Amino acid sequence: MDLFKICPKCCGSANASIAHTVGTLIKVNVTCELCQHSYSWYSQPFLGSVPAGNLAVSSAILYSGALPTKVLRLMNFMNIPTISHQTFFNHQRHILYPAVLRFWKHQQMQHIAKYRDPTESLVLGGDGRADTPGHSAKYGSYSMMDLKQGVVLDIQLVQSNEVSSSNAMEKEGLIRSLKWFEDNNLQFQTLITDQHVQIVKFVREQTPHITHYFDVWHVAKGLKKKMVKISKEKDCKEVGEWIKSITNHMYWVAASTPNGDSEEMVSKWLSVANHVQNKHRGHSDQVANCLHGELVGHDRKKNWLKPGTKACVKTEELLTATRLKTSVEKLSPIHQTSDVEAFHSTINHFAPKMIGFSFHGMQCRLLLAALHFNENSARPQALTKDGVARYSIQFPKYKSGGYITREKKINQSFRYVNTLLRSIRKIVDVTTIRSTSEEPMPTPRPLCAAFTRPQKTDAIQAMKSRFRKAEI
Ligand SMILES: [Zn+2]
Ligand SMILES: [Zn+2]
Repeated sequence: MDLFKICPKCCGSANASIAHTVGTLIKVNVTCELCQHSYSWYSQPFLGSVPAGNLAVSSAILYSGALPTKVLRLMNFMNIPTISHQTFFNHQRHILYPAVLRFWKHQQMQHIAKYRDPTESLVLGGDGRADTPGHSAKYGSYSMMDLKQGVVLDIQLVQSNEVSSSNAMEKEGLIRSLKWFEDNNLQFQTLITDQHVQIVKFVREQTPHITHYFDVWHVAKGLKKKMVKISKEKDCKEVGEWIKSITNHMYWVAASTPNGDSEEMVSKWLSVANHVQNKHRGHSDQVANCLHGELVGHDRKKNWLKPGTKACVKTEELLTATRLKTSVEKLSPIHQTSDVEAFHSTINHFAPKMIGFSFHGMQCRLLLAALHFNENSARPQALTKDGVARYSIQFPKYKSGGYITREKKINQSFRYVNTLLRSIRKIVDVTTIRSTSEEPMPTPRPLCAAFTRPQKTDAIQAMKSRFRKAEI
C-alpha cells in the first residue's frame, strides 16, 4: 500500500484503500490530497470481463486433474484470497469445458482423417469404466481405442438414470460409440473387448459384420480365479501349481493362431487337458501331439494330475467346459486391450473413483485424460547423457519381494494444456459468464430428480422423533 501513497501526477501525498477483492483480484482506489487526481488500480488484468488470475486458478485446477475442494481449502489455510467453489463451477461450465470439448473434437477429426484411406484397417479395443467400485455407479464411460496406434478415438459418458440400471451403462456406452463411428463414416471390422454378457449379445445380434474377439488377459483372469477356487478344495492343492502354465498356454493358443481360426484355437486349447495328465500324444485330428517336444529335467518331474482323482476331474471339467470353449474360439490373436486398461488408469488420475463430479466435470476429466493419454502413450525410452537406454527396477506387491525391470520413458508432456489455455482466451472474448444462451452440452437430469423431496421441516421432525423413540 506504501506504493500508492505518492501521486503519480504531482508526487503529492495520496490516500489509498482496498475497494474490494474478487477472488484473487484486489481493487485499490487512490485519490491525491493535493491535486485530487484519482484512479483505480487492479492487481491483475481481465480476460473479457473475467479477472485473469481467477480464471488461471480454475483452469490450473481442472487441467491438472486436481480437486477444487482441496486446492481452494489449501489456499484458505494459507490465507491466500481465492475464488469460491461457485466461481470454479461457473468457469468450468462456461469456459473451461467448451475449450476442452473444442480441442478434443479437433483432435478426433485429425485422427479419423487417417482412416479415410481404405487400405488402413481399424482394429478397435473397447471397455467400460464405472466411476465407483461395485454396482451402484453414478457414471459409466465407454472408451474406444485404436489398438494399432494406441490412440483413444472416442469416449462416451453415460449417467445411470439414462438407462435402466448402473449395469446397463456399459452397453449404452458402446451403442453411442458405435453411432459416433457410423456418423463419422468410419468403417471397422474388428472389435476386441472383455466378455461383458450384454455386449457380447449385442455385438452378435446387432453388428454381425464386426468380428468380435475377446481380450486374452480377461479370459485368462476368469479361468485363473476358478482354478484358485478349485485348488482350495480338499485334495485339490496340486491344481494351484498348474495355474501359471495353463494361463500361459491360453496366451500361446491366441498368439500362435494369427488368423484367429476358432477351430484351430479350440483344438490347441483342449490339448492342455491331456497335457496336465502327462499325456502328450493323440489329442485330436487337428492337434495330434503336444508341440513342446521331449520333456527333460524339471519339466518331466511336474506334479502331473492323476486321472480319476478329484483334482484331475475338476480341472478337466473346467478346461473343457462349453462356456470356456466358446470364449477360446474368440480369443484375440494379435491385438489385446491392455492399452485400454492403461487409459483407464490415466482416467483415475483425472477423476479418482469415489469422488462425486458434476456431469460437466466428469465429461471434462474424461476428455482431459484422453488428451493426456494420446499425447503421452507413445513416449520413447529415456536415455542417459551418454545415450544409453534407461531402465528402472520395481518391486510390485504382487511379486511379493520379486522385481520387474521396466523401460524408463522420457518425461510426460502437457502441450495440450497450452493449447487449452490459448483456447480459453478466444472463448472468453466472445462469452460473458451467466449470459451464454446456449447450454454447453445437454446434461441428463440429476439422479435425485426421480425422487420425491420431502418438506425439510417434516424431514427434521421425523428424524427427531426417531431419535426420541431410540432413547426410550
Ligand atoms: Zn496529485
Ligand atoms: Zn504336453
